[in-house]
Formats: sequence, C-alpha cells, structure tokens
Amino acid sequence: MNKQQLIQELKKEGFSDKILKAFETIKREDFIPEKFKEYAYENEPLPIEEGATISQPYTIAFMLNLLELKDNQKILEIGSGSGYVLALINEISKNSEIYGIERIKGLVESSKKILKDGKNIQIIQGDGSKGLKEKAPFDRILVSASADKIPESLFEQLSKNGILVLPVQNSIFQIKKINNQIIEKEFRGFVFVPLIEKE
Ligand code: SAH
Repeated sequence: MNKQQLIQELKKEGFSDKILKAFETIKREDFIPEKFKEYAYENEPLPIEEGATISQPYTIAFMLNLLELKDNQKILEIGSGSGYVLALINEISKNSEIYGIERIKGLVESSKKILKDGKNIQIIQGDGSKGLKEKAPFDRILVSASADKIPESLFEQLSKNGILVLPVQNSIFQIKKINNQIIEKEFRGFVFVPLIEKE
C-alpha cells in the first residue's frame, strides 16, 4: 500500500479532513527503522525498538479523533515512542504546547532528532505511568500504551473540560472531565504495547 491508498482507507472510515491532512503531511517512513521503511504505509503497527511499536495508522487516527484536538492547547502523550504521534498532534493542533514522555532512552533520542524543528514539542525521558505532574494540568492526555486499569493520577492532571484517551487492556477509553464529572466511553477490540508500571 502507498500513502494515498492508506489515506483513502482512513477517509472511508470517516476521519476528519484535519486528521487526514496530518497523515498526508507527516512522513511515517521517517519514524521507523530502515529495514521496515517499505512497509511505512501499510495499515499495520511496525516494530521500532525494544518491543515498542509504532501503532497502526487506523488506531492512531481513532485515538486522535477521540481527543477532539483544538488549537492552543497543552497536550501530553505518554509513551511517545518514535515521535510519530507527536508530529501528527503538532500538525492537527496549531500553536499548542506538546509534551511526550517515553521510557526508552534510544527512542527519546531518535524522536528528539527527528522532531528538532517541532518547536512546540518537548520530549522527556521517564516513567509516564503517573503522568507528568510538573507540567500539569493538560487539556488533552493521550496514553499510547495499554494499562491494566485507568490510572487515577491522569484524571487529576486534566484541566477543566479536559479529555483523556487511553487504552485499558484491549479497549480504548475516552474520558471527559465536565464540571469535575466523568463522562466515559469505551471502544473495544484494539491491541497495544503494555504500559510499564512500577510496583
Ligand atoms: N506513539 C508511539 C507508540 C509507541 S508504543 C509512536 O508513535 O511511536 C508505546 C510506547 O510506550 C513504547 O515506546 C513504550 O516504551 C512506551 N511506554 C510503556 N510504558 C511506559 C511508561 N510507563 N512511561 C513512558 N513510556 C512508556
């Protein structure tokens, strides 16, 4: 499959023009190892490093859609891996302050290198399973690795009317904070890299 075919496939799923445009602009091949570049536009996850994968484009689009991104927001991605999703977020949400936290040093370094012109993006090495307290609150939090249950601390780091999108086991949850109430939606049937949580 080539890029245009992938975009057509995502278009058929009904994703917004903004999301499709970001997939068009950002080069997925820049974020994956040399030997997998020929598969860059397959609608499949691909290995990056130490068991991490760059998620399937459909899954990424699905999560970005649930994030309901707007311009001028403060956004956190936990498990930023290759940096591909950070680059997409930066394309969809203009003038935003975007943070990525990733535990694998090699991925932090390579993603920083690729995103060096992304002035709005900061990547931090560390354990993001409890969020990133020092930069909270966030308007949007995306978790790109799957936890066993919803971590409470993440909800606390959401700003008023914030949205958290995260995989728990094989479901994607969209959790909205509205007047400090939780509005939760579940979408089943996805596969993710596990979120590593310290005991
Ligand atoms: N969005 C990434 C997807 C990477 S896969 C991309 O576009 O490439 C999920 C990532 O979560 C992996 O890189 C893994 O190392 C990372 N991860 C898992 N547990 C983590 C934790 N507790 N803190 C930070 N990163 C974590």
